[in-house]
Amino acid sequence: MNTVNPIVISTWYHGERANEAASNVLQKGGSALDAVVAGAAVSEEDPNVMDVGYGGLPGENGIVTLDAAVMGPGGRSGSVAGVGGVVNAAAVAKKVMEETEHAMIVGEGAKRFALKKGFQEKNLLTEKARQRWLEWEKDPEKSSAWLSEQSHNETLGILAMDQKGDLAGACTTSGAAWKIHGRVGDSPLIGAGLYVDNEVGAAAATGAGREVIAICGSFLIVENMRRGMSAHLACENALQRMIDRHGGDVEFQVGFVALRKDGETGAASIMNPFEFALFHDGKNRLAKAKAMLDKQTSFYNIYR
Ligand code: ASP
Repeated sequence: MNTVNPIVISTWYHGERANEAASNVLQKGGSALDAVVAGAAVSEEDPNVMDVGYGGLPGENGIVTLDAAVMGPGGRSGSVAGVGGVVNAAAVAKKVMEETEHAMIVGEGAKRFALKKGFQEKNLLTEKARQRWLEWEKDPEKSSAWLSEQSHNETLGILAMDQKGDLAGACTTSGAAWKIHGRVGDSPLIGAGLYVDNEVGAAAATGAGREVIAICGSFLIVENMRRGMSAHLACENALQRMIDRHGGDVEFQVGFVALRKDGETGAASIMNPFEFALFHDGKNRLAKAKAMLDKQTSFYNIYR
């Protein structure tokens, strides 16, 4: 059987380390699905990544809850939302996909499911994240701003092509910082934060969840690629649709990454900066995506 060169593309600076883990799986002949879940685990387990998994910023009540989705080449998906007390939300989403008849499990039920499947319970709130939360709580001005969907974080979206040429993706996040308990963003919603069609390509999102949901962002990008657009143009087209919905007046950040079935990749964002990590031809690198608007996101990096 002919093998293809594995590819991994993911969002933000921590995507670079996630790509390393994912590409290790792929180079040993592992599946794209196992690769993206291995990549997700790196960001989820790193306490310094304050947007994903352990160490993620909590909701308004000081409780960290996670959202995650996976989608494999067979067209099946699994996701969890609002799940607390377990670090590897993407791996739990994979269990939902593989070991249940369901597409999504939320809240307490998702945690109970994870513990039953052998995941260890862990307090996700690190001291560093708790201190940030206390600072936020004390500041009445920050409160209202941070509760809006304009604040963005650095969700990991990761897409891979394995040696067989099969595609898979994962998206994992602690969601919007200081979110209303129970708020769910785009990341665990198939078609919004993540979409994979093994015949066409895959896409994943980061940024203002409400906006990505409103245009079915990742699905739209895959459909754009189906109609022949390059991965990059497919991302730009989806971002333009968001901008147009607001009459050009946009104050939120969204970034997309995309991977086409022929191995072509793309990334784009509304504002600067948005970094993505690309593993291709055996090399892994971090790059800056092109932004649609000549604007700087004020929320970027604030908690790194
Ligand atoms: N998309 C994530 C959410 O809305 C957050 C982000 O990536 O900024 O939960």
